[in-house]
Amino acid sequence: MFEKAQQLLQSYFGFPSFRKGQEQAIRFVLEGKNSLCVMPTGGGKSICYQIPSLVMPGTTIVVSPLISLMKDQVDALLQLGISATYINSSISLSEANERMMEAKQGRYKLLYIAPERLESREFKENLKSMEIPFVAVDEAHCISQWGHDFRPSYRHIRRMVNNLKKKPIVLALTATATPMVREDICKSLDIDEKNTVMTGFERENLSFSVIKGQDRLLFLKDFLKKNNKESGIIYAATRKMVDQLYERLKKENMNVGRYHAGMSDLDRMREQDQFLAEKTTVMVATSAFGMGIDKSNIRYVIHFQLPKNMESYYQEAGRAGRDGLASECIVLYSPQDVQVQRFLIDQSSERNRISQELEKLQLMVDYCHTENCLQAYILQYFGERETESCGRCGNCTDSRASVDVTKEAQMVLSCIVRMGQKFGKTITAQVLTGSKNKKITELHFHKLSTYGIMKEKSAKEVSDFIEFLISQEMIGVNHGSFPTIFVTEKGKNVLLGKQVVRKKEAVLTKQVANDDPLFDRLRIIRRSIAEMEKVPPFVIFSDTTLKDMCIKLPQSDEEFLQVNGVGENKLKKYGEVFISAIISYCDEHPERLLKKATERSFKKKTKKAERDSHLVTYEMFLNGLSLKEISGKRELALATVENHLLLCAEQGLDVDFEALIPAEYMPLLKRAIEEAGSDRLKPIKEQLPEEVTFFMIKAFLFLNKNKLKLMKDKSVRDRPSSW
Ligand code: ADP
Repeated sequence: MFEKAQQLLQSYFGFPSFRKGQEQAIRFVLEGKNSLCVMPTGGGKSICYQIPSLVMPGTTIVVSPLISLMKDQVDALLQLGISATYINSSISLSEANERMMEAKQGRYKLLYIAPERLESREFKENLKSMEIPFVAVDEAHCISQWGHDFRPSYRHIRRMVNNLKKKPIVLALTATATPMVREDICKSLDIDEKNTVMTGFERENLSFSVIKGQDRLLFLKDFLKKNNKESGIIYAATRKMVDQLYERLKKENMNVGRYHAGMSDLDRMREQDQFLAEKTTVMVATSAFGMGIDKSNIRYVIHFQLPKNMESYYQEAGRAGRDGLASECIVLYSPQDVQVQRFLIDQSSERNRISQELEKLQLMVDYCHTENCLQAYILQYFGERETESCGRCGNCTDSRASVDVTKEAQMVLSCIVRMGQKFGKTITAQVLTGSKNKKITELHFHKLSTYGIMKEKSAKEVSDFIEFLISQEMIGVNHGSFPTIFVTEKGKNVLLGKQVVRKKEAVLTKQVANDDPLFDRLRIIRRSIAEMEKVPPFVIFSDTTLKDMCIKLPQSDEEFLQVNGVGENKLKKYGEVFISAIISYCDEHPERLLKKATERSFKKKTKKAERDSHLVTYEMFLNGLSLKEISGKRELALATVENHLLLCAEQGLDVDFEALIPAEYMPLLKRAIEEAGSDRLKPIKEQLPEEVTFFMIKAFLFLNKNKLKLMKDKSVRDRPSSW
């Protein structure tokens, strides 16, 4: 049955292979086991139930709490040529009745329902007359009271499952589940915890970064200009800030929309639809935006202000790059926002939860200050233990040099002290740069010894530098009717010469995706088709698919089918228009096809060279060179040379391994294998002296391959005494 699943993945979805975790999740279902699948956003959970629904007879029920998402999911399935529909409160009663009637006639492979439907007796009776071999419970954490989105109606699922004519298989899916929530899901849905698939929380295509001590509006505007063709979300903490940012960006002629709970339902819906249809590319929003949005090509998520905790942050940032392409997640940090979040927590939380919320906020602030890998910080926060540096985030890739700015910092700090620590950032910068502002003379600040000591800089530059010192917590901010600045304990140490201040150059904004005129052309075609079909563009083809077209440049149906994300139905529907666009582009730009051909032949050549490299090693070995000598001569790691010889032996070439294993280790190796078995190398290595290498173990195992096989075939007691 699994072969069938694989075949359907290619023919319907156009994907050549399953992603991590998908195969296991599907196997559980096809083996008839209730199971739980925990994968991060964008991990590919939908395939885990959509493929089994195609393998099995009858209709699969998908319970999902996200009404707006259901329509997109169903639209996407229809595009693939899979019959599906949904029943939820967004459709009229008569429409719901009609869809139910069709479902009872077996018209749909998948029926999406909102959990509230299960409270209706009539609805459950209707389900009883259908053939339902399989139920998928999406966002399964909603079933648990311990989760962050408890939905009481999820509790009806189990009863529905038990009441069906034949008990269906259940698959629960979620992106977030603490051990307690996982246990709760399994208990509530009769799942053996053994049947859990977990792929970890890492999102390999996301790069996280935190920008501190820089003018954030300037950073933002520059970033948006560089990435003006890509979709992205900018989160702000308050409605007021959303409105302000929206106006500022609009003035710059940016293609921007906004979304917050203070707007009417109609306005919000319009803004959301425009964003999904790619009529606006940037959405400025509060955290009210995003739930139930599965636009897959969001290339960046920028938090203009600090989010309230890591859970919200990872969820919001995680909306970037669901299609697996490289995407950016940036926090523009300013310590003043900590005050904003504290205020919001104080206003909105129940009394007994405030201290817990504040602790979580502190961990979010720590994230902004860590100098270690940001992705690893997030994973550790969510309880993953063995985390490695990602090599992609702002901290992992930071190679900026830093300069000593202690003297400048002392100038600023001492000026603040002299001004009585009662004034704001702007006037302090004016005093330092020697402004002739009337207010300054009125307050006699022109008589201070720090007046004009930074006059070679502009007031804006000094103001930015003050912002940097705020981000380093050397200057604090008092939020009264207008914010005033003061010198903190850390700042005092700088003044006393006990602490050095170093500043790195500003972080430059990057372009998330490379410009490609062909990609732009295909994107325009996709948008016009989407408009005609009244679905969002990513439902027609994902960015990944368009990018793959730009690489493979398909010129025929067969070639088009090779593109990742092109199944048979989409070939039929859109093949012609995309292929002809690609052909005419290649006619205009013949160098593009040439480039592809050279790349292909280069790849072939390097592959062949890689393939044959072990033979070069072999020849040198036959000529009597030691492995170390070969490694030195060929500038290859010793382990590579060793692997070359093992490969030669596997391919039937004669390698004298006995000469490579010192005779005194032979009996030790034999004993270690008898003790630890021959399946895994590490336990064997642990039984042996340090000097016996993994290569010697592998070579010994190779030499004794036949004897070991014999030993395995016979029972353990029957083990031959000598090999
Ligand atoms: P989730 O529900 O876990 O957030 P989705 O099911 O929406 O994730 O899948 C995210 C994206 O990954 C979609 O664009 C989907 O088409 C793509 N995808 C899923 N499985 C595969 C696969 N095996 N190969 C290539 N792309 C895949």
